[in-house]
Amino acid sequence: MDHFLYRDGMLHAEDVPLSDIARGVGTPAYVYSAATLLRHFHLFDEALAWGPHLVCYAVKAASNVAILKLLGDAGAGMDVVSEGEYRRARAAGVPGDRIVFSGVGKTEAEMRYVLENGIRQINLESEPEYRLLSKIAAEMGLDVPVTVRVNPDVDAKTHEKIATGKSDNKFGIPIARAREVYAELASLPGLKVVGIDVHIGSQLTDLDPFRAAYRKVADLTRALREDGHEITRLDLGGGLGIPYARSNLAPPVPMEYGQVIREEVGDLGCEIEIEPGRLIAGNAGILLTSTIFVKEGEGRDFLIVDAAMNDLIRPAMYGAHHDIVPVIEPTPGADTRAFDIVGPICETGDTFAKGRDMPQVDAGDLIAFRSAGAYGAVMSSEYNSRPLIPEVLVQGDQYAVIRPRPTYDEMISRDSVPHWLE
Ligand SMILES: *Cc1c(COP(=O)(O)O)cnc(C)c1O
Repeated sequence: MDHFLYRDGMLHAEDVPLSDIARGVGTPAYVYSAATLLRHFHLFDEALAWGPHLVCYAVKAASNVAILKLLGDAGAGMDVVSEGEYRRARAAGVPGDRIVFSGVGKTEAEMRYVLENGIRQINLESEPEYRLLSKIAAEMGLDVPVTVRVNPDVDAKTHEKIATGKSDNKFGIPIARAREVYAELASLPGLKVVGIDVHIGSQLTDLDPFRAAYRKVADLTRALREDGHEITRLDLGGGLGIPYARSNLAPPVPMEYGQVIREEVGDLGCEIEIEPGRLIAGNAGILLTSTIFVKEGEGRDFLIVDAAMNDLIRPAMYGAHHDIVPVIEPTPGADTRAFDIVGPICETGDTFAKGRDMPQVDAGDLIAFRSAGAYGAVMSSEYNSRPLIPEVLVQGDQYAVIRPRPTYDEMISRDSVPHWLE
């Protein structure tokens, strides 16, 4: 459930009409609902209330410092995959002991930075990585809490670009080799084994792959304990999917997911960490855009909007579906027409939807792309020299710009011409 609803014929973000934001900030713009972000965080928190746990929001889904502060103040931990994300989390006031560092390619500089500034745990993904971390940590006189990300070889049955738990992916260490890897780890200075990490992919709409992966993690926990390791934490990753199309069957909810975790690993006495990103931020954000032209083509009509693939790349990159709705509520039973909804960029890939039924839309009308809160703003670029679009956070009847739209001058002045061309 989210807080983007029609009220008095107008789509609102909580208590703010989207037309107010369009007037104040311009379009295109990302608009987030604080109540929805918090609601989703609390759903996970409650789903794990049966035992000790920490919900570590996956910062990469939507990484604006205001969003991190909102969630961090509510008690969330953070899962970061770069020094930049770590710095954002710290800038939002999240203490280091609530930040988990994941990722396949952490550099030496990044490792040093987080060790100097405090980290809850580092999730390791390869032999060269833990050998390097051991060297640095020992040099610094630290005992860094670590887990190893195991690859359980389960098929997450999601889009190939976001499946990470099959043995042919670049992620983690094959679970079959985990015992020998943990044995080596335990012999290295500077590292303190605290648990096991697993993350099998994103936008999972079925709990079975989670169950299969967590069962393997439970078996591994017992085996590693027999080998003498202290396994006190299980980081079970993120990946629970969201309903992108309202017409489809809804994916499982956090409470059911929490039950699967309890059934599979609940008896091990471990602290549970999870790293949800998409489910917290996805339906908590929309992309607000205006129609530039309604273009009638040969057998095909186009809505050309002022947002483009540089602002929201998911349809071009993953073939992703977003529900697209007019901000002015259509009258029930009004005629609809099929449109291709496209951006202004000179690529056929700059298409948000094909043959989408829409009510009467005229040039200048506002349109909202739903479920754009996760992997939206964070994946945007300035392709076609389109300045990054602003982000807005709504809470109740107030809204604030949490990232302003750069001016053209600001965008261009970041470039510099070498002296020999002056
Ligand atoms: C991407 C990612 C997540 C978040 O996945 P969602 O599908 O957004 O919940 C969590 N953990 C790791 C290691 C990731 O790479």
